[in-house]
Amino acid sequence: MTLHECPGPNRKAPPAPEVVECPACGAEMEMWTNENKAKCPSCSKEITREQLNRKKGT
Ligand SMILES: [Zn+2]
Repeated sequence: MTLHECPGPNRKAPPAPEVVECPACGAEMEMWTNENKAKCPSCSKEITREQLNRKKGT
């Protein structure tokens, strides 16, 4: 698929915070789209994208 985008340093989408649910404690937390893991502010556990996908996937 070809998109009409300006060439240059911003070819990739800029990282943005994504609200996810902590699989450990259920609290809402933010994970940046360019990060594969984030620390839950509620339970201080390190949550990886893999864990999120495993919970979501059906
Ligand atoms: Zn948590």
